[in-house]
Amino acid sequence: MNSYAKQGVVKELNDSGEMNQAELAARIGIPKSTLSRTLQDLERRKLIIRYDNGPVRLPNQTSTVVTIHELGHNFDADHEDAGGYNQAYRWWRGYCHHTVMWSGYTVSGSEYEFSSDDYHGDSTHDDARRISETKGVVASYT
Ligand SMILES: [Zn+2]
Repeated sequence: MNSYAKQGVVKELNDSGEMNQAELAARIGIPKSTLSRTLQDLERRKLIIRYDNGPVRLPNQTSTVVTIHELGHNFDADHEDAGGYNQAYRWWRGYCHHTVMWSGYTVSGSEYEFSSDDYHGDSTHDDARRISETKGVVASYT
């Protein structure tokens, strides 16, 4: 898949809100056939929302990531450079993904999950463990 086209789509939609496909192709400078394949791929991964012959836009996921991230801080989950075992994690699978406590947000890479030794993480990137350990303290807040 054309990475230049994908990044172009996400950047244009991020900068401009929604726009139709003809305008998107013109702004990025790619053929409509390339744009069509790119949009199919992004749509399959739920990174864009597309209407029939209408506008394309990004899903409203930014506020969801921020909400989960800030809730994580309440449970002492922390960023990638915190220094303890409660740190965010990143990995590559086609492109860079990172767990929700990563300090920087990206449209394509910010996942809703916390780092964990059991899946995306290791013994020094395990925000899930910290959340499990602090849940009793948080539950006692009144
Ligand atoms: Zn933070």
